[in-house]
Amino acid sequence: MPVVSKLRVVPAHIAQRERQTVRTQIGIVGAGPAGLVLAHLLHLQGIESVVIESRSRKYIEERIRAGLLEHGTVDLLIETGVGKRLQREALTHHGIELRFNRRGHRIDFNDLTGGKTVTIYAQQEVIKDLVAARLEAGLPLIFEASDVSVHNFDGANPSIRFRVAGKAQELHCDYIAGCDGFHGICRPSIPAGVLTEFERIYPFGWLGILAQAPPSSPELVYTYHERGFALLTMRTTEVSRLYLQVPYDEEIDAWSDDRIWSELRTRTAADGNWKLNEGAIFQKGITGMRSYVVEPMQYGKMFLAGDAAHIVPPTGAKGLNLAVADVRIMAQAFAEFYKTGKTELLDRYSEIVLRRVWKAQRFSWWMTSMLHRFDTDNAFDERRQIAELDYVTSSRAAMTTLAENYVGLPWD
Ligand SMILES: Cc1cc2nc3c(=O)[nH]c(=O)nc-3n(C[C@H](O)[C@H](O)[C@H](O)COP(=O)(O)OP(=O)(O)OC[C@H]3O[C@@H](n4cnc5c(N)ncnc54)[C@H](O)[C@@H]3O)c2cc1C
Repeated sequence: MPVVSKLRVVPAHIAQRERQTVRTQIGIVGAGPAGLVLAHLLHLQGIESVVIESRSRKYIEERIRAGLLEHGTVDLLIETGVGKRLQREALTHHGIELRFNRRGHRIDFNDLTGGKTVTIYAQQEVIKDLVAARLEAGLPLIFEASDVSVHNFDGANPSIRFRVAGKAQELHCDYIAGCDGFHGICRPSIPAGVLTEFERIYPFGWLGILAQAPPSSPELVYTYHERGFALLTMRTTEVSRLYLQVPYDEEIDAWSDDRIWSELRTRTAADGNWKLNEGAIFQKGITGMRSYVVEPMQYGKMFLAGDAAHIVPPTGAKGLNLAVADVRIMAQAFAEFYKTGKTELLDRYSEIVLRRVWKAQRFSWWMTSMLHRFDTDNAFDERRQIAELDYVTSSRAAMTTLAENYVGLPWD
């Protein structure tokens, strides 16, 4: 039977009547770190919100992504009551290693930043904690919404339309928060000509694996090698997260487990008794690398946050942390509006968050440029990169610059 026979053409006025309508203060599109942290902060301020997510709970709680949290992100999660499991299970790191010419050089965050650290706690664990907190509090979080669209955000009556289990719904709200990631619908719904895009696409990607193998080193190891960059990181004391620089158009099928381990051994080789711990690979994939920012991050009554407005290459581990930093400001701006009626902070949202976004962009681009091979035939670039790594690991001023950006610049 042709599928089209199931379709029913409904006149506009009947469609309106059949659509179930609900009202809230802030309509949030997307239950990633940005959307869920925003909803949580708003709840603590007594502001109502509804979170609309296109995927299932299982999907978002299992999606493998970031794993490194800045100290400010960790403090915020703990202070707002969603950091109990993080405090029990996360790994605290006091530094990283930069490795080149077969030698490792430690960047000591404790010493260089007055005791600041970073924390290893997988993004999906942050998501699980936030989802649990929201559902336990009985607050609205809608999964598996389809046909999500945003309306009237340039006027007085913004709304979000969507379907759940085939039923059409419309959420009327005072403001819309577009937290739906890089491929979401909020940013593209802003009229043409309003936004300016800034973009850099890199000629390589990261092949990432999760392996059942204890970390080979207690801290992250960033390796520069003539064959390309490699990163050794971890998710737990039993699971390693390892990355290799590969060409941007590489196919994952070209990388057998043996080839991955062989390449990791070559790139991370070091003098002394260094040994790479190996184990069963249970997840692998290739991610492209790009830097992207859209300005402004607001239009009318819609505000963008996180990957919906900017993407960083993962070398600086800033993506999740920037998403949290954005919504922290957004929540403050909404709180000011509902307490005082003033829109000053809301009006300045984009200007305020973009200062941090561009600093994170600069740092992520710089780390990426220093550690990756852009053109394997270019001997000048190779010497220049080695000289830069030599400088960064021998000058206290340079090490401090890296450390203070890596642990996260001050919030304000
Ligand atoms: C392989 C990889 C490694 C990374 N490593 C790090 C790291 O170490 N450190 C770090 O800080 N960052 C890292 N990042 C980046 C980090 O994961 C992202 O920056 C972060 O997820 C951004 O959060 P977000 O909430 O803005 O967007 P997302 O996490 O993308 O969430 C957006 C949500 O919106 C939903 N959505 C999309 N479209 C719709 C729609 N139409 N309607 C409703 N919902 C919708 C999506 O399903 C999703 O749940 C990494 C990313 C990748 C891919």
